[in-house]
Amino acid sequence: MKTLSTLMLSAAFIASAAAAQDTPAQAENRWFTDGQARLQEALAQQPIEGRARNVILMIADGNGVGTNYATRLFHGQQNGNFGDENVLPYETMPNLGLVKTYNVNAQTPDSAGTGTAMHAGVKTDAGVIGVDEDVVRGDCSTVPGNEVTSIAAMMTDVGRSVGVVSTARITHATPASSYAVSADRNFEDSVPEGCAHTDIATQLIDAMEAGTIDLAMGGGRRHFLPEDVTDAEGSNGRRADGTNLVERAESIGATVVFDQEGFDALDLTAGTPVLGLFESSHMQYEADRDGEPSLAEMTTAAIEALSQNEEGFFLSVEAGRVDHANHGGNLARVVRDGVAFAEAVQAAMDATDPSETLIIVTADHEHAIAFNGYCGRGTDILGLCMGVNDGDGIEHTGEPELADDGKPYSVVGYLNGPGSVLIEQTDGSFFGTRPNPDQGEATDLEYLQQALIPKGSETHSGEDVAVYAMGPWAHLLNGTIEQNFIFHVMHYAAFEAE
Ligand SMILES: [Zn+2]
Repeated sequence: MKTLSTLMLSAAFIASAAAAQDTPAQAENRWFTDGQARLQEALAQQPIEGRARNVILMIADGNGVGTNYATRLFHGQQNGNFGDENVLPYETMPNLGLVKTYNVNAQTPDSAGTGTAMHAGVKTDAGVIGVDEDVVRGDCSTVPGNEVTSIAAMMTDVGRSVGVVSTARITHATPASSYAVSADRNFEDSVPEGCAHTDIATQLIDAMEAGTIDLAMGGGRRHFLPEDVTDAEGSNGRRADGTNLVERAESIGATVVFDQEGFDALDLTAGTPVLGLFESSHMQYEADRDGEPSLAEMTTAAIEALSQNEEGFFLSVEAGRVDHANHGGNLARVVRDGVAFAEAVQAAMDATDPSETLIIVTADHEHAIAFNGYCGRGTDILGLCMGVNDGDGIEHTGEPELADDGKPYSVVGYLNGPGSVLIEQTDGSFFGTRPNPDQGEATDLEYLQQALIPKGSETHSGEDVAVYAMGPWAHLLNGTIEQNFIFHVMHYAAFEAE
């Protein structure tokens, strides 16, 4: 029942709504005009429909929302800004969701289970590749009947080309989840007796021979060479079965390259398989990269090679070493690999047409990274937390904030890892006092951010990661989603949409 007072309230609301149309006092404020400009962009945004000819899935391993925040600030600060206002290339994409990354049997996921979720549409257990949750990790006898089909194989079935690129070993969990079936992610060059499926490296060459993988670039040369073969960089192969998979790849017509020189000489229009094995193990961190192509170079080359096929392509790209630098508690290398990933995304955006190419950018999981203190604007994200300027200026005071122990602390810390302040003593106990780094030490490339719990390798965390998307049906990636849903959007855009 409407009373007099509710009618009066309604009238008051109408009056205030009318007043809101008037120019507010802050209308000329830059933040206000920026907000208005963003509103107009959002209003002009039209969803792209129609079938996606190409799909590119770009995964920065271990680049959750927190890690990505560090990279955003580092990239901006490299360009002379405070960092916060910086926009990474994928942060311009019109669609965004938050992804729940857990594995079926793990609150904190690993990359094998998460990679399988994205490439095949089902969550599975930690540590297994291309199989469902009914497989017991490491037990090959549980695999038959529980294999799942990757989107890469589905693309091949309809005549499209497939590529996989990673800065990790190309046999490592994330890239392997696009082409392999394995009871254990560690079966990179051998399997226990009785396994129906071969080791992961052999499966990659089998896929090249079958035409289901047209291009593969990354590290991991050792898993393709016999133990008694030494590569050009002086590392021995790891294969105990004596098989030389490099020679086998060449025998099926693939061009195999091992360094920047070979990469630069590739004929990307030849239409024959390409295998790049640029390191014995993982490719170098971006901060140390020498004689190897960047992730952006590999992405651009892959798109050029795969685009030779008029039917379209699927490309899986992984920045594998964001994860490894996080495990090492070494933020300076994390963010440099993060920037290299951002440059690869930009390269993919530049090389494709959003009306026919769906680009999805995400991470498989986050790490135990944390951001400390009330730091002022422009505080170096690699360095010590500097005080907030309460006076006229907006840039930080240049004076480090001090903790209750009288020592400064870096903006970024880890909850666990090799930078732990607790050090093992000769009697096996752990004891520590916080080190007292100056700004020079804290911003050094080799600096390990302080951590609490001692662990030789810092761990993943289970918190959400973001998914950014552009192109056909990218707007379906919206809201808080389960990680395996990413596959279903790729599949709908590539196969089901008209
Ligand atoms: Zn990891």
